[in-house]
Amino acid sequence: MPLSLLLSLLAPPLCLACGAAAQVHQPLCGRCRGGLRWLPPEQAGAGVPLWAAVSYEGPARALVRALKFRGAVALADAMAAQMAANAPPGLLESRALVPVPMHPARRRRRGFNQAKEIAAALGRRCGLPLADCLERPAGAARGSQVGLGREERLSALTGSVRFRRGAAVPLRALLVDDVVTTGATFAACAVALAHAGVRDVGGIAYARTPGR
Ligand SMILES: [Zn+2]
Repeated sequence: MPLSLLLSLLAPPLCLACGAAAQVHQPLCGRCRGGLRWLPPEQAGAGVPLWAAVSYEGPARALVRALKFRGAVALADAMAAQMAANAPPGLLESRALVPVPMHPARRRRRGFNQAKEIAAALGRRCGLPLADCLERPAGAARGSQVGLGREERLSALTGSVRFRRGAAVPLRALLVDDVVTTGATFAACAVALAHAGVRDVGGIAYARTPGR
């Protein structure tokens, strides 16, 4: 029996954001769910049409951090449920879901790519194929992007993402990530997909950093 399941049997689930009691399969309590700030359907991001479900603050931030740093992969499904229930009409149709790739060294340390977990959960919910067709070459720069401006991030990212050799080329792709900040990572991924022959690229994220 997985440890997480064992723990949920031994102790009632607690809200990841505030520690209050939560329902089974609900990572947030009712009050924190009510505190999520939903974002409008129309958003721009470095030239790639993209949509993020909620603002990256408060309970949404707690969820993303729990997924990333505690390895609670089951949380990806809770995020995917929120995304699927609120996505603009047509966004989650007739597209392959392409996770934003993670640098291989970081992927090894963490043990999983949270973007891929969210994409897989979304795919299961919406009946869309997963196309894990992008990668970050091991030699690519992977310094922190904190403090860099949009242009600097873009130029640092161009060439840092490439299409995986031999992967099938989807006709229409929807890039998936946990958090979008400037959209520069989505843009670099969109360039790699376009070069490979993908004709239509959009993006979806669970959360978006406010004030951008
Ligand atoms: Zn709570």
